[in-house]
Amino acid sequence: MARLIARLRELRHSDHRITPQVRAALVESLYASTQSLVIGAVTSTLIAAVVAWATRDGWLAAGAATIGLIGALRIVDVMRPLAAGPDPNATTVRHEIGYRVGALAYSGMLGLFGFLTLTRSDDGVVQLLAVTTAIGYAAGIAGRNAGRPRIALAQLCLASLPLSAGLLVGFEPLKLVLSVVIVLFVVAMMDITLQTYAALLKATIVSHENAAQARRDDLTGIANRTAFREQFEECLRTLPDRGGKLALYWLDLDRFKEINDTFGHLAGNALLAAVAGRLRAHFDRDSVVARLGGDEFAILCPVGDRQEAATIGAAILALVRRPVAHDGHSLRTSVSIGVAIGPENGREADTLLKNADLALYRAKESGRGQLYFYEPVMDEKIERRRQLDYELHGALERGEFHLLFQPIFDLAATRVLSCEVLLRWTNRHHGVVSPAEFIPIAEDNGLIDTIGHWVLYQACDVARGWPADISIAVNLSPIQLRATRLPTVVLDALNTSGLPPERLNLEVTETVLLEDVEASLAALEALNRLRVRTTLDDFGTGYSSLSYLTRFPFQTLKIDRSFVTDLERSPASIAIVQTIVDLGAQLGMRTIAEGVETQAQLDQLRRTRCDAVQGYLLGRPMPAAMVSAMLTGTGGEAIG
Ligand code: C2E
Ligand code: CA
Ligand code: CA
Repeated sequence: MARLIARLRELRHSDHRITPQVRAALVESLYASTQSLVIGAVTSTLIAAVVAWATRDGWLAAGAATIGLIGALRIVDVMRPLAAGPDPNATTVRHEIGYRVGALAYSGMLGLFGFLTLTRSDDGVVQLLAVTTAIGYAAGIAGRNAGRPRIALAQLCLASLPLSAGLLVGFEPLKLVLSVVIVLFVVAMMDITLQTYAALLKATIVSHENAAQARRDDLTGIANRTAFREQFEECLRTLPDRGGKLALYWLDLDRFKEINDTFGHLAGNALLAAVAGRLRAHFDRDSVVARLGGDEFAILCPVGDRQEAATIGAAILALVRRPVAHDGHSLRTSVSIGVAIGPENGREADTLLKNADLALYRAKESGRGQLYFYEPVMDEKIERRRQLDYELHGALERGEFHLLFQPIFDLAATRVLSCEVLLRWTNRHHGVVSPAEFIPIAEDNGLIDTIGHWVLYQACDVARGWPADISIAVNLSPIQLRATRLPTVVLDALNTSGLPPERLNLEVTETVLLEDVEASLAALEALNRLRVRTTLDDFGTGYSSLSYLTRFPFQTLKIDRSFVTDLERSPASIAIVQTIVDLGAQLGMRTIAEGVETQAQLDQLRRTRCDAVQGYLLGRPMPAAMVSAMLTGTGGEAIG
């Protein structure tokens, strides 16, 4: 008994301890069996009608009619479809209140009807009918409505206790016994209801937890891809009703792999969990924060306009940048974000995801730690870049690359001094792709190393077959230059081909003078120690400080094509070219002018007395066989 009372007390707070979803499932259980409710309503009404007819009592007739009316109303209530409003919690509460009013009124009427029968009729059969109906109903209810125990218990008491009271009237000993039995019955049924409730609650909670578990990311505890997708669809469904906009942020942590490789995967996990925690804490329940896998996250957030979306984005950038302490280390990362806003950037999840992804790609491309909004013009450009990125993987294996060689002449244009190797890519889907387009992509995705080595080995191999006084110029990306194993690779290429190091000339662009100067300097010095030559390419375009130039061990300066192109028209260009040639002479560097297309340009270059010339006028890039024929034949065509 004491246990029962304690449990009854607990019941008062039970709903605060369960989630709204569990509560909704329990309320739903009230509506689960329409059949039992209909059968109950029909039989009780029938029996009440029989009792009223048998007794010919006005009060009982009125009672029977009321029971019939309430029964009918309740059937209508449970039959009509459950209308879901915008707030599911409120819907649950509304349903439960509706059910409770009907259930309590009905049970109260049955109890009252029993009481009236016991007090207004002496007919034993009639009394038996009324008592069994009410008690039978009460017993059924204790099980049926155990999901909402407060309703079930109230119904139990309302239906049975008036009988107990009715039996006391007149103080007949047998009826007294029955009255006590009914009270004991109520107590026993209460216990059963509470036990059933406990079992039901546990089962419901477990099933909800399992469902929730499958939709949660194990590592970070936030929503996973599956849950994200569901919630995304849901947000889009309700978007038109709310008339607002929905911002989709697609996040990709910068250099996450580096952190994993440097500090171990536990550190990587700690970083992911910390970022997820910060994001979840920053956004309220209206927003969805999910981990899509790896180091990618997505956030859905209602916004008023683009300005607000930008402010939120800036907050995300800042909170990811805050360092994460792990095992004595301070882990730092930044995040690249692509944003698409519904409905203007798309009304469907797939479209918005694709557009946010394009924006993210753009963000990553233009340096890290940045946020980009989707712009329709991005589509084409970025889509092509992405496809080329994809196609570059495996291009070498598919044999899609080949090399062309462009001769470099002495100033008299009578003798070939060297040839520059120019890489060509003919892709299976995209056809011929310019190196100006694919080299930057290969630099970004890291393939430049592998491709660059291939070029180097091939170039050395081809040059080995040329006359001994002809050297070969190979372009090196700054990324290749700073790779620590470059000297080893170069040495290996020379040894494999048997090409003397003096005949290999490596061209690097002027940007190496600007980025990571010390590493570039060390790499160039290492190459020079191998007796390999180096050329500073595209000179004059990079705004580099001339003081750096004196520190760098280049043997050659290549004057950028833009100055050569302008030679005929602009006196300034003549002056610049002259200055570079003089500067080169003073620093002990040779000068090459590239991009010579006209005789007038060549004539002007002869006046400025640079050392060598290269350009379409003198020779276009050509296949190895043609170069060989040219070199072993006349030794270059005489021009002008
Ligand atoms: P770059 O090193 O400045 O190469 C010279 C570019 O100018 C080549 O374009 C060449 O075909 C072009 N050219 C030569 N003479 C003339 C001329 O008289 N007029 C005009 N308008 N253009 C001329 P290409 O082959 O499209 O290469 C573009 C850039 O791609 C190169 O610029 C270089 O930076 C890069 N590149 C090419 N091959 C390689 C490679 O194997 N490795 C690396 N890292 N970069 C490469
Ligand atoms: Ca070059
Ligand atoms: Ca150049």
